[in-house]
Amino acid sequence: MDILVASNNHHKIEELSLILPGHHLIPVNRYLEDFDPEETGSTFLENSLIKSRSLFHRLSPEDREILAVLADDSGLSVDALNGRPGIYSSRFGHHEAGRTLSSEEQNSLLLEKLAGLPPSRRSARYICCMSLILDSNRIYTAQESWEGRIAATPSSAAGGFGYDPIFWLPGKECTVADISAEEKRLLSHRGKAARAIAAMLPDNP
Ligand code: IMP
Repeated sequence: MDILVASNNHHKIEELSLILPGHHLIPVNRYLEDFDPEETGSTFLENSLIKSRSLFHRLSPEDREILAVLADDSGLSVDALNGRPGIYSSRFGHHEAGRTLSSEEQNSLLLEKLAGLPPSRRSARYICCMSLILDSNRIYTAQESWEGRIAATPSSAAGGFGYDPIFWLPGKECTVADISAEEKRLLSHRGKAARAIAAMLPDNP
């Protein structure tokens, strides 16, 4: 079916297309020019629903009949930082620096905050909450996580994005930046949540 995604991130849309074969994913900017709802929630679930609900409310009555809406909210939760940066992952360090930090700068800042902590105290997880709206009575959510820990130093491998060079996978003895995109799709918070959502999509809408 045609699914309007509350994101313009083409990596995300490409990844979702591979997990939802047979469906047609449409980035929100093809439908609305000014979609940027304020993420005022205090959880991944709330923020995911803010995005999907505000997009659904902007569909015309005709489009509500034929389009599904999909949104996600994700981030990194570090136990030694009481779950931070969490829902603020993309803005991590913004407050202290007075500007948006690059991913490399965010990773260095996180390593600084955990300096001296042994591996046993560096546990962390990625979390992703996806929400799907088929119509006003059919709203589904799926939240998944991916357990790991914060590495001592960043990997120099080029895979992934964001916190991937410092997200260590204990079973694999490498970071997410070192694994293939295909393997990441299989193991990741987003891949698992998207597969749970896939199971909720009607085969023949
Ligand atoms: P959003 O889901 O696009 O709002 O992303 C939230 C933020 O969480 C991203 O900007 C990254 O900082 C972080 N994040 C979420 N998923 C991943 C991932 O798979 N790898 C690395 N960073 C991630």
